[in-house]
Order: sequence, then C-alpha cells, then structure tokens
Amino acid sequence: MATLDEARAALRRHFGYDDFRGVQPRAVMAALAGRDVLVLMPTGGGKSICFQIPALVRPGMGLVVSPLISLMKDQVDRLSRQGFRASFINSAIGEAESARRLDAAVAGELDLLYVAPERFDARRFRERMPELRVGLFVVDEAHCASQWGHDFRPSFLRLGAVRESFDCPAMALTATATPEVRTDVVRLLRLKQPEVIAGGFDRPNLSWRVSRAHTGGGKEKRMVTALRELKRSGGTGIVYASTRRSVERVADRLNRSGLTAAAYHGGMRGRDRVEIQERFLSDRVRVVVATSAFGMGIDKPDVRLVVHYETPGSLEAYYQEGGRGGRDGAHAACLLLHGSRDRAVHEFLIEQSHPQDAFVQAVYTIIRGAADQDRVCTLQAAGIARVTGGSPASVEASIRILRQLEIARPLLRPTGPAWCRLIASPARIQRELEAPGREPELSYLRGLLDEADADVWYRGQPLGRELVAAAAADDGASLLDVLQEEGFLEWRRWPADSHGLQLLAEPEPDHLPLAEANLPGRKRKELGRLNAMTRYAVERGCRRRFLLRYFGEKAPSRCDSCDRCVAALKA
Ligand code: ADP
Ligand code: MG
Repeated sequence: MATLDEARAALRRHFGYDDFRGVQPRAVMAALAGRDVLVLMPTGGGKSICFQIPALVRPGMGLVVSPLISLMKDQVDRLSRQGFRASFINSAIGEAESARRLDAAVAGELDLLYVAPERFDARRFRERMPELRVGLFVVDEAHCASQWGHDFRPSFLRLGAVRESFDCPAMALTATATPEVRTDVVRLLRLKQPEVIAGGFDRPNLSWRVSRAHTGGGKEKRMVTALRELKRSGGTGIVYASTRRSVERVADRLNRSGLTAAAYHGGMRGRDRVEIQERFLSDRVRVVVATSAFGMGIDKPDVRLVVHYETPGSLEAYYQEGGRGGRDGAHAACLLLHGSRDRAVHEFLIEQSHPQDAFVQAVYTIIRGAADQDRVCTLQAAGIARVTGGSPASVEASIRILRQLEIARPLLRPTGPAWCRLIASPARIQRELEAPGREPELSYLRGLLDEADADVWYRGQPLGRELVAAAAADDGASLLDVLQEEGFLEWRRWPADSHGLQLLAEPEPDHLPLAEANLPGRKRKELGRLNAMTRYAVERGCRRRFLLRYFGEKAPSRCDSCDRCVAALKA
C-alpha cells in the first residue's frame, strides 16, 4: 500500500505544492487504505487533489464521473501538463476518438479517465467496462445524485450499480454539505461505511464585507464604486443577483456607467451561456452579472471580487458563491449589499416551493387525467397553474414532490428534447430495412442502438438532442417521422417548457403519502437557513468566525480581514 509520504512526494512532483492542506491528507489516507470516502469541502477548497493523487499512486486507473462536460477538456489538458496520463470521453468527441481513448484506458495507459454519467448508458462503453482496471471510482459534484442538490441529474441515479461493477473503493465529492444531500449521496452511490471528511472551510485569502443599503440607488452606488476599483486594479469579478430581472437591470446599469459587464442567467439560450462562460474564462469579459446558475464548477483562479447585489437565501449559497473568488490563493474580496427587503424574495420562493397538501393533490389529479394508456403525459406548468389557480413555480414544486415520492418519474433528461420507443422486432427491422434504398433508416436505427441497449429502447427513453438532429434527412423530412409512420418506432418532441412524466404508483388523489415529504419540516429548515443568512448580514462580531462556526469549524482567534475586525483594529 502506498503511504502518505509517497502521496506527498507525488503532490510535490506533479503540482509543486509543499504539502496537503486542511483535511486533504485525511481524504488521501482513507482512499489509500481502500476505504469509501465522502469528501465535503467548499468550492475552491481543493477537492480534486483528494482523488487525483490517490488515483495516481494506487494501482489501476482513476475513473472520474463528472457532470461538467464543458470543463473536462480544460481539466485534462492541465493534468497532462502536470505529468498525469489523463484523458476524457464525452459526447463532444467523435466515435473513433472515443474508441481510441477507451483502448488506451483498457491497455492501462491512463492514470485518470474523466467521463460524464451518461457514458454508462452508451453500449460501446459498457461492453468494455469489464476490461478496465479501475483502482478508484470517483464521483465529483456528487450532490447531482440528490433530489435535494441544486443540480439534480437523473443519470447520476444509476451510478450506484456502476460503482458496484468495479471492485475498488469509491470517493464522492461535493461542496453541498446539507444532511439530506449527504444521506442521498451515500445511499445512491452505495458507499460502504464511508469515511466522511468535512472541512477546509476557512479561506484565509478571502475578505468579507457587508454594506447595508436599503434603496436601489444606494446599492448601485456601492457596486459601481467597488467595480471601478476592480477595473483600476485589472481583476475580474462576479456580481450575483437573486432574479433574472435583477441581473438584467444590474448589468444594464453597469454598462451605462462604462463598466462593461455581461449578463448570465438560466433564461438565456444554452449557446449564449456557454459563450459568456468562455469569454469570462479567457478574460475577454471581466465582469459577469449572474444568478446562482453561473459558476458551478467554474475554476477561474483569478476572480478578485464577488459582489452579492442581493442577500442570498442561505449561508451555504453565499459561501459557495463568494468562494469562487481567490482560487489562486491571492486575495479576493466578498462584498454583500444587504437590503432589508432582500429577504422577502426568499420568503416568497420558500412559500412557492412548499405548496399546501391540497394543492399538490389538485396537481396530481390533473396529471392523472392527462395521462395516456402508457401512463405518460406531457404537461406545461403554466397550463396547470391556470387551472389550479396557483403559480407555475408551485406547480413545479408539486411535480418535484410527486417525483420524490416516486409517484411519477421524469421522462425527460434536463437536456433532452424528445422521447422515443422502438416497436418493430429485430427480425422485422432486418427483413424490411436491410434492403436497397433503406440505408438511411437502417443506419439511423443502428446509431440509436449504439447509444443504448435494444431493451432500453423497447421500453422507451429520452432522445438526446444529437439524435433528434441526426434524424434530419436529405429531403428535409425526419427519419424519425418516416420510421414512426411505418410503425418501427414512436417518438414525440416535447414542447419547449414542458415536462414529460410517467406515473408509477397509482394512489387516490386525496391519499398521496404527503406526510413522507414532510413539507412543513422542510419549510421550517429553509426558513432557518434564511434566518442565519440575515443574522450574518447584521452580525456585530467577526464575519469569518460567524461563517466558520456555522459550518462547524473553529475560527482562528484573529481575522484581520473582515469589515468588523478591520474597524476594531482602527478604533
Ligand atoms: P474544488 O474542487 O474543491 O472547488 P479545486 O480542487 O479545484 O477545488 O482546488 C482549488 C484550488 O486550490 C486549485 O487552484 C488548486 O490547485 C489549489 N490547491 C488545492 N490543494 C492545494 C494544496 N495542497 N496546496 C496549494 N494549493 C492547492
Ligand atoms: Mg471541483
């Protein structure tokens, strides 16, 4: 077994760092000892090293599952420069290249292989999995496995079975430390008596400041001052705002003041969002105004200022977003513009996300009525909201609750625009499509079968964007329509803002097991988090101590870098 000293030597050799920091050595040791590990560390805390070093010094390869496809290439390029034999496979690279990389992995030529969770649904990959010698199975951003994580991805739910197909320890990592997420991650990834390692929450290079400004004008003035300073010093910054509308307004205000800023929020087209992210990473835009949708996994080392234009709903969110500053270890400032009215937005959101039992029941009744004989239905939250008299957000919340209670399951991947089911038998496909003139249809079906097993298609499953696009035929028709007309398959495209749901359990509408969802309890908890956030904003003592205590860590006796401590020093 490799020792911590060997691991430290590898850390020096490959990263040039003197030593592990915080709880890193504990995570590394546990992995070296062959234990399952759950690492909870804030963004920028240094989670990657916890698996990269053990994967390197342990026999076998580190197989790293990460949802952040857009960042894989960057990460792997950097690792290669640092002397790792690293590679990635995702939908952005072609078939031949994927096969080549998989060959390299099977031949034992890699220390680390990064894949997206969807890869385990691809037949070509799955077929060769038994040949891989995996020494460490890693799930990064593991909160995506939990319905309670802010970024739930259904394909994460199958990783437990994948993990068990490898005879090696597993490590899951996340910055989301709430007990619900923690429990879900352990259960869904089937971690065996995991060592839970939490820590590294102190970020000595971040300074914390709160400015109370109760009018919009007051906030704008302070923000503009802070960003002018940033512009002079040449750094990059992020301004977080609570709502899309606020993002647009703030970005507009900055641009009118001659401070170029790009807006970023979930309501924008995916392509535009990717472009802004890339322009920010390459310093072509220095300030981004964004909702919390911006930044998950963004590893830009030199962010010097994070402004919160409005107070967020929890310290977890605040610390995570503020923590995007100063990842290179140099100083960064976190400035919160706290207004007494900021709280109301969150109270409203909490209210919306915890609808009354009767409302959830009404939504369920409508869904049940709309389901076809396969118990499948497509629905739009706005439409249901019109009928039930609630808001679209509370309809969304009700649907989420039905999913959590396993009464319904989503048929739609967050990224998939359509759904498809194969009908024709293999024999019929062979008989009728292996014929002259039917090459396009045949090769299209073969393409489908490369993505997933036949039995999955016979059950029906979401159809990814690429597969819908690939169905476009020369004459403008869709091969999917042609195949549907001839009864080979059925498919449907979801309207833009719709959900596809399949009902699983069939309870009576007024007997939904809502007690299990414990909505009042959850609501109380969220209000508790909001209260803690508000207390931080008005706290008289050291901000750093307040934050660290909240996350269960001891604070250093001196801080010197929050507005309270600095004021005390001057006095
Ligand atoms: P996370 O995944 O937790 O958000 P990363 O793994 O991306 O954080 O690490 C954040 C930054 O901290 C990176 O720039 C990384 O190189 C640096 N870092 C991590 N561990 C150490 C260490 N032991 N010494 C110095 N810098 C470190
Ligand atoms: Mg990370």
